Order: sequence, then C-alpha cells, then structure tokens
Amino acid sequence: MGYQKPKGTADILPGDSSQWQLVEKTARDVFARYQFNEIRTPLFESYAVFARSSGDTSDIVSKEMYDFMDKGDRHIALRPEGTAGVVRAFVENKLYGPEYQKPYKVYYMGPMFRYERPQSGRQRQFHQIGVEAFGSESPAADVEVISMAMRLLRECHITDLKLAINTLGDAASRAAYHEALVSYLEPHFEELSDDSKVRLHKNPLRVLDSKDAKDQEIVKDAPVILDYLTPEATAHFETVKHLLETLHIPYEVDTEMVRGLDYYNHTIFEIMTNNKVLGHGYTTVLAGGRYNGLVEQLGGPDMPGVGFGLGVERLLLLMNAQNEALVPEPKLDVYVVGIGAQTSATTLQIIESIRDAGLSAERDYLDRKPKAQFKTANKMNAQIVVTIGESELADQTAHVKDMMSGIEITVPLAQVYTDFKAVQQQLNMN
Ligand code: ATP
Ligand code: MG
Repeated sequence: MGYQKPKGTADILPGDSSQWQLVEKTARDVFARYQFNEIRTPLFESYAVFARSSGDTSDIVSKEMYDFMDKGDRHIALRPEGTAGVVRAFVENKLYGPEYQKPYKVYYMGPMFRYERPQSGRQRQFHQIGVEAFGSESPAADVEVISMAMRLLRECHITDLKLAINTLGDAASRAAYHEALVSYLEPHFEELSDDSKVRLHKNPLRVLDSKDAKDQEIVKDAPVILDYLTPEATAHFETVKHLLETLHIPYEVDTEMVRGLDYYNHTIFEIMTNNKVLGHGYTTVLAGGRYNGLVEQLGGPDMPGVGFGLGVERLLLLMNAQNEALVPEPKLDVYVVGIGAQTSATTLQIIESIRDAGLSAERDYLDRKPKAQFKTANKMNAQIVVTIGESELADQTAHVKDMMSGIEITVPLAQVYTDFKAVQQQLNMN
C-alpha cells in the first residue's frame, strides 16, 4: 500500500508552483514599494504565545491548534497565524528600540496550521502572506495597510472584491459595549449555541462572530458597537473612513464584523468575494486590523500595531476562476542534440558553457535517437537548437539553428564554449 499525504494538506507541484511564485513575487514587489521588509519567524512557537495573543476562547486556540508536548516536555504549537510570532520576535529582538524607524514595517509569507475540516479554500496546512506595522497610532497607518492590501489583490488581477470595515473601539468603548451586549444576550442564554453560552461571559463579542444560524438570528438585534464608542474612538474611525474616501477606495461598514482573534481594537477589515469557487455567499480572502496592546501583552512596551493576513490558497482559487493564472509558458533557451555516443562529453561541455552565459540549456540523457531529441526540443519550446554529430566533432564546430526564424549557422566550438551570447547575436544578425 502506498503512502498518502495527511488530510488537509496539498502537494504544490511544478507548474502550480510557478503560479505561487508569481503571487509571491507580486507581493514582494508591492510591499517593497511601501517599505515593508521580510521577517521570517519559526513555524512553531511556545503554545503560550498563541494562547496569550489570540485568546483562549478563539476558535484557533480552543479547537484548531496543532499543539503537542516535545521531548523536553515543552508545550509547542505549530503556528496557526502569523501575527503572534512576529510580535514575539518584535519584542524579543527589541525592535521597538529608538534605533529603528517607526512605523517598523514587516511582511511574512509561509505555511500556517489549523486543525479544521478540509474543504475548498480551507486546509490544515495553508499559506498566508501578511504584514505588520508597529509604532503608529495614526489612522493613516490603518489606511496605508488597507490600500496596500487592495493594491496587492488588484495586481493579482482580482476584481469584484468587497472591503468591509468596522471598529472595535478602544478599551473604554469596548468595556461599555461589553456590558450592553451581555445585558442584551443574557435573556437569550438558553437559546444560544453551546459555544456561545461559553463565550457570553468570557468574550461576548465572539458571539457576534458565531456561524450558528440560531445565534445569528439573535445577534441581528443586538446593540451595535458604533453607539458605544468614545469620542476618540469615533474620531479614529471617522478619519479612517475619510482617508479611504480620499484614496477612492470603496468600503462598507459592517457593524457585526468582530474578527476571530481577541487582540484587535479600533479598525478591523476584511476583503471578501462572493465568487462561487469559495462556496456560498461571501468568503474572506484577506483580513486584518489594528492591535494596540498586543505588543505589551507579549511582554513589550505599549506600542500600537496594524496588519493583515491573506490566504494564498483562496487567492489562487480566485485567480484561476477568473482565468488570471498569467503564468508565462515555460521556455528553454537552448536544446543541444548529440548524435552518436561519442558526442556525450562535448554536449555536456556545451550545455554547461551555455549556462555559464546565463541561458537555460538541456540535452538528452536517455540515449534517444536524433529524431526523438529534436522532438523533445520542440516540446520544450527551445528557442535555439545546437546539433553536434561526428563530422562537427571532427571539425570542432557546432550547428546552430534559431527555431523562430529558421536561420542556421555553423560556428567553431571554441566560440560556443567561451561566448554563447555572441553566437546568439550572430543568429539574430543573419
Ligand atoms: P474563516 O472565518 O474563513 O475561518 P478566519 O477568520 O479563521 O477565516 P483569519 O484567521 O482571519 O481567518 O486568516 C486570514 C485568512 O487566512 C483568511 O481570510 C483566509 O483567506 C485564510 N485562511 C484562514 N484559515 C484557512 C484555512 N484553514 N485554509 C486556507 N486558508 C485559510
Ligand atoms: Mg477560521
């Protein structure tokens, strides 16, 4: 019996991986324009890092964590998301120090792990591209991050997206809202789902996020946070909206949106699509928000932050659904056909020389007849075919053909070895 990959994982094969590289390259290009630099943190951290940051009642911590005791009896978890590890690294490496430019802007890309029921756009090992900006309270920083997210999706040619925003206010707003929400929900206690019953007192905001139909019915008439904001929190949110309008970024305010993680406050946002490849209704592709207080919670100074995470699998599903794969056809610069066993050493020398010149080159390794080799060259979309047989070997020359123009020339092997670019030029001049 053969082996199979673990449930909820995927092999990204050559062909598909070109598309991944395209998305990653687009992200790196966009982030560089905004002066975000890459950070790479471990794929696993102390369990406490995630429990502390995401919150004990979050789905991630309560149900989805891949955690285990290691051989040294440490409680470890595979990272379910990127922010916690980045904040841990930010604090541990004292990146909040005065020698670093603020906001301190980083991005990451890589696998995340959540024990979930696999379905389209939902895996157990999946990938996120995310960004974090530390050290600015300014609503302009929120908007820069949102604008960067929209640009990234635009440059991946994704259209028909919906940007939903909301605010969770500051600590005082939240405390006031907390009270109002609990008072509203308590009379409905018996009707709530088991999950929501637990959350009602531990974290009532989470009830708003429930996917249970009955809960959603109850939540519909719940008080909304916008009515409980402090003047400062209102001002922050108003400025965010104003700046989005200044940049002509359309948005909708969704007062029921709370995000699944405990660490958010002020602005939260999701970029959604109703494309059918991701299931019924709207699905989130990218989500983020402000998390003032998280740095402090993980042992650092009081330092604000804002960021987002993007699900790469969901992005690729969308790109494919919109036929925006846009990966260029693979191409080969030169295929070298060797006729007769005695040419083997020379063809090897030739392809290595061509690679020295910075071009891609390939040859036969299966003792195929010349005809089969020419066929392979065509299949591989070779731009130039170099042929070397017994007579060329005797003359120390090579036969070179440009497959586009059909032009053929014979050149000294010495030239092929020392300067293949010149051979290429000669073909173009003919
Ligand atoms: P959902 O409500 O769909 O479970 P979430 O709130 O758990 O999403 P976040 O924690 O905000 O998701 O993660 C950010 C993004 O990462 C999501 O918008 C999505 O694109 C992607 N993502 C999250 N979980 C998965 C998964 N299991 N498989 C693939 N992508 C995922
Ligand atoms: Mg989830």
